[in-house]
Amino acid sequence: MTKKWVYVSRTAKEDLKKTLGHAPEMDEMKIILGGKGAGLAEMTGLGLPVPPAFTITTEACVEYMKTGEFPEGMMDQVMEALKDIEEQTGKKFGDPENPLLVSVRSGARQSMPGMMDTVLNLGLNDETRAKLAELTGNEWFSYDAYRRFITMFSDIVMDYDREHFEEKLEELKKKEGIRLDTDVSLEGMKGLVDEYKKMYKEHFEGEDFPTDPIKQLELSIKAVFDSWNGARAYAYREHEGIPHDWGTAVNVQTMVFGNMGDQSGTGVAFSRSPATGGHEYLYGEFLMNAQGEDVVAGIRTPRRITVQGSREWAESTGVSEEKRKVEYPSMEESMPEMYEQFLEIINTLETHYRDMQDVEFTIENGKLWMLQTRTGKRTAASTVTIAVNLAKEGLIDKEEAIMRVKPEQIDLLLRPSFDPKAEKTLIVKGLNASPGAGVGIAVFDAERAKEAADAGKDVILVRPETAPDDVPGMLASKGVLTQKGGATSHAAVVARGSNLPCVAGCEGISVDVNRKQFTIDDKVIKEGDVISVDGFTGAVYEGSVPLIEAEYEKQTDLITLLEWADEIRTLGVRTNADYPVDARRAVGFGAEGIGLQRTEHMFFAEEARDAVVRMILAKTDEERQTALEEMLPIQEQDFEGVFEAMDGKPVIMRLIDPPMHEFLPSREELIEEVAKLRCESPDSPELAEKEKMLDVVNGLWETNPMMGLRGCRAGIMYKGLTEMQTRAYFQAACRCTKRGVKVIPEVMIPLVGHVNELKMEREKLEAVAKQVMEEEGIEVEYMFGTMIEVPRAALTAGEIAKHAQFFSFGTNDLTQMTFGYSRDDAEGKFLLKYVEGFETGKVDDEGNPILEPILEANPFQSLDQAGVGCLVEMCVEDGKAANPDLEIGICGEHGGDPASIDFFHRVGLDYVSCSPFRVPVARLAAAQAKIRND
Ligand code: ADP
Ligand code: MG
Ligand code: MG
Repeated sequence: MTKKWVYVSRTAKEDLKKTLGHAPEMDEMKIILGGKGAGLAEMTGLGLPVPPAFTITTEACVEYMKTGEFPEGMMDQVMEALKDIEEQTGKKFGDPENPLLVSVRSGARQSMPGMMDTVLNLGLNDETRAKLAELTGNEWFSYDAYRRFITMFSDIVMDYDREHFEEKLEELKKKEGIRLDTDVSLEGMKGLVDEYKKMYKEHFEGEDFPTDPIKQLELSIKAVFDSWNGARAYAYREHEGIPHDWGTAVNVQTMVFGNMGDQSGTGVAFSRSPATGGHEYLYGEFLMNAQGEDVVAGIRTPRRITVQGSREWAESTGVSEEKRKVEYPSMEESMPEMYEQFLEIINTLETHYRDMQDVEFTIENGKLWMLQTRTGKRTAASTVTIAVNLAKEGLIDKEEAIMRVKPEQIDLLLRPSFDPKAEKTLIVKGLNASPGAGVGIAVFDAERAKEAADAGKDVILVRPETAPDDVPGMLASKGVLTQKGGATSHAAVVARGSNLPCVAGCEGISVDVNRKQFTIDDKVIKEGDVISVDGFTGAVYEGSVPLIEAEYEKQTDLITLLEWADEIRTLGVRTNADYPVDARRAVGFGAEGIGLQRTEHMFFAEEARDAVVRMILAKTDEERQTALEEMLPIQEQDFEGVFEAMDGKPVIMRLIDPPMHEFLPSREELIEEVAKLRCESPDSPELAEKEKMLDVVNGLWETNPMMGLRGCRAGIMYKGLTEMQTRAYFQAACRCTKRGVKVIPEVMIPLVGHVNELKMEREKLEAVAKQVMEEEGIEVEYMFGTMIEVPRAALTAGEIAKHAQFFSFGTNDLTQMTFGYSRDDAEGKFLLKYVEGFETGKVDDEGNPILEPILEANPFQSLDQAGVGCLVEMCVEDGKAANPDLEIGICGEHGGDPASIDFFHRVGLDYVSCSPFRVPVARLAAAQAKIRND
């Protein structure tokens, strides 16, 4: 038996069950029948009014692409299926007495709107046209259908561009002195059809327009198959990451006519707003006396489905209520019965698909027909709202609502965007390659971009395209604009990976790097001119468009979704925050504590600067102690602020971490200054001072500072430092408690590699804590723990756990040291290339080189589960075995990465800690990890 290539919509589900040996899942139906074909089968099965149809499978298309011929038996099965449709409609394809007309529609597994082709009104020739006129009593309509068919068939099937035909129509309208297609006279339409046929014959050197319907059908099916590999469709798939070998199905469907007069029409609708997700009204438009694509083509002003939608439209376009009611009444007002039926259908579809639907419909002489349904595309905001509403309406449960939103979409909702109310001058539009809004001066070179950024300027890097060398400049910029390259170009990939707004492939501009400018038409944007790039939409504006912060508190659906996530997740979510304002913001985002408060930023504070330098330069213990005492109140103040912000939530304070030289002037600059002063004013006191400073800096100089005197090593070597920080922290804790602020202090030692480091620091610390509490006359409970960021610490976790109440993985350092990479060097020199891949000499089907990556992902963004993760897992096991009460978290950047969060959930961590803006992302990701894994 030959393979089944064709499925009639009304029996497709049953037939597929036979083919597959089980009832088909929705996804399986889409794979075989394409999205459109599956939708037609589902709608037919639900008893909705769908014009009878059949579907030729994507598998047939795949066969056809291999051989260039229809697979064996396919056309026979098409003829069989046609008979079925003829039976259902009582009409016959090609029969001049009672002609059946059909459409031939493309339809891939995943919708590719407008990318492939559809031919309507197939089966028309002079005889069937005449009969159509007779049966409908509408001659004008029959000619309108015919001229549309000739246009579409010529364009899509024969590659004779539709512009040629449309030009003639325009000429005719001009001659008749009218504006709308629907106003063309009957004589005019007749003449047009004659002219079209002549044009066709001339163009194809004497060949007549094909009159045999079967021939028309065969050629159209071929054309739809071929359109899969059309340039437009190919480019779209590249952008969307859709495989090129899926193929498209072909749907052959009985025509229904929206262009039969003023009782007919056609339209599209979303079951909820794709922009906001709101369910207040159907979001749809329709046109009377129109066919197929007239709505999208924007030839006439469409009407709305609901009264409310119609009023809103009128308000926004300035149409008065009287005029609206007369000229643009909604379906709800002008066809109330149909409106009711439409609502019912939409509800049936939403209930069936349990999601927002995007539908096409046609009204033929007052009867409603459904032509397409699919899950509607939507913005990040409406994804959240729709998921929450569907759950509230009981169509899905909370867990499913949580799984329907991607954590990255939440990130999008929290980014600042351009103020929609601001006045802006659009220069050009490109590809929205990486979301976000960036404003800055245009700079045409990555190095200059970095310099300008270092000098405190906001920069937009503009390049013809970017290469790995440009990365430092890109990362220093507020946004990136490229002329060439698509959504997978270097610029786009790097930008997305770094949350950098990017508009790519902006073919409309011409970038001239040498002249430091880009042009579009006669507009010139020079280096230094301010531009604004909108990575959400791909728009590029002149000047600075004001930004608005995303208002989390107003996003009630997001808040609801995250509350549901909190009910489900077992992984805690804390934040990394150094300042009270960050701490407050994070609490607003739902942080349950601080997983990492870095204390070193206080050392950079203007008012502490002097004391810090004196502390480092101190020759005697006494000198050092005096300096430390000056630093103490400044530290304490910040600690109090953070305790207040976190009232009742744990705060992990980490003792100082970076190498001391970071707090002193740069060595290179000092060398330069000293050299200059030696020439210019050799006896100046300034020189003596600088020389002294240079001596100190030289003394502190390290070949590899990240592995040198830092972390707990500094605490151990600089006498009094740990004590001062501890004192400041506990004074703050005691004093806050006395004021009625609830504190849960936790102290963390960084960079421990050997248990003895921890023991020594702990002893000092406990002594100070005890002393402070005695002085303050109040007891506060606290925890003492360590970071795990040196591989040796992970390897000896069992020993270390005996001296710590908690562990917190510092996955940034742990990744650096496990890989043996220094992050800054690696990302600047080879790491991104490792991820992008190297040429292998092999090429894919389209001739593009196949790249072989060394690393799947940047291990600083997503935890390397096999290597670094293995250490983490081992450490958790050994640590808990030695100390069952051990609390374990992670405070590296990975704490905000969804894939890493999934891993941390699986290995049994207690919490993740991430930057404030990632807290909502982490809450969702943690719930998803729970749902996915347990
Ligand atoms: P696309 O995937 O580009 O939307 P479609 O196959 O859905 O292409 O068809 C294009 C237009 O033609 C749509 O508006 C559709 O509703 C209309 N159309 C398709 N088939 C028929 C039919 N059998 N009767 C009436 N209109 C049709
Ligand atoms: Mg469609
Ligand atoms: Mg570290």
